Amino acid sequence: RAKESGKNTFRFYAAEANTNSVELLTLENNLRRAVERNEFVLHYQPKVDLRSQKIIGAEAVVRWQHPELGMLSPMQFIPLAEETGLIIDIGAWIMRESCRQAVEWQQLTGQNVRVAVNLSARQFRDETLRQTIADALTESGLTPDCLELEITESMIMHNAERAREVLQHFHDLGAHVLIDDFGTGYSSFGYLKHFPIDSLKIDRSFVRDIPDDVDDMAITQAIIAMAHSLQIKVVAEGVETQEQLAFLKKQGCDQIQGFLFSEPLHSHDFVRMLKLQPMLRLQLGEAAVA
Ligand code: C2E
Ligand code: MG
Ligand code: MG
Ligand code: MG
Repeated sequence: RAKESGKNTFRFYAAEANTNSVELLTLENNLRRAVERNEFVLHYQPKVDLRSQKIIGAEAVVRWQHPELGMLSPMQFIPLAEETGLIIDIGAWIMRESCRQAVEWQQLTGQNVRVAVNLSARQFRDETLRQTIADALTESGLTPDCLELEITESMIMHNAERAREVLQHFHDLGAHVLIDDFGTGYSSFGYLKHFPIDSLKIDRSFVRDIPDDVDDMAITQAIIAMAHSLQIKVVAEGVETQEQLAFLKKQGCDQIQGFLFSEPLHSHDFVRMLKLQPMLRLQLGEAAVA
């Protein structure tokens, strides 16, 4: 069962090798309780535009502040949240909180930054998603143009007709759609021209071995060229070294995310970073030249 619902689930169960059904039940109850007590926190990883060398926004990533186990990564509980359906409530909270934070950043810094929210497969299929997004936007007052939704190829492939409808709705709303973990799915790229997609995020696995792996470099280069010819922007994730940055810049990659620039931050640290933008620009400029 663990294997069939994907590698994250497998990881989760593998990490809990001794888990018996009683412990699993406990974990599920814990997760239920976590929703009621709101034990989740969001961290924000900056996205940097390579041309302007400015932070254009941040991706929200969720953590579970477990009372006994400490901070748990999304890989450790999102699969269970999916399986139990609790992801719908957790996801709604993430959407509301992300939009609220984005408005706060804008107010505190005067900068028109965006927030990117990861959607899970079950959320994407759920009938309540549209209302959840509409409520989050209304409640926070965030302009839809400042909301980016990160989905994966497999969510589109699962039911292409329905996906088209949902993506068209996001598009009409004025939100941005990004394909996350691009290149790791089994899809043909044909869907890219038929769906309203704003950007692709090149998966970390292709970025990791630049500049040692010439195949990964060729793939990265090809993804960027293909995306640009379709008027789609490209983000590279997992950028950790100056060599990677220099290569991506040279290939015309639009945005980067990664530990080289910043790991996911507490909201107040992200605000501090936004306020320090001129200094960061210099730093990135030097890195890019190296
Ligand atoms: P993702 O959307 O691909 O998120 C990027 C992950 O890569 C994050 O891990 C981030 O901390 C990590 N990362 C960023 N830069 C670097 C880097 O330079 N090097 C390395 N080694 N790692 C880097 P995180 O936060 O553990 O999230 C893992 C996955 O969990 C995410 O992958 C996403 O699929 C899922 N996830 C996270 N937050 C949410 C959420 O709010 N909702 C849903 N549905 N899924 C989420
Ligand atoms: Mg993501
Ligand atoms: Mg990703
Ligand atoms: Mg990834």
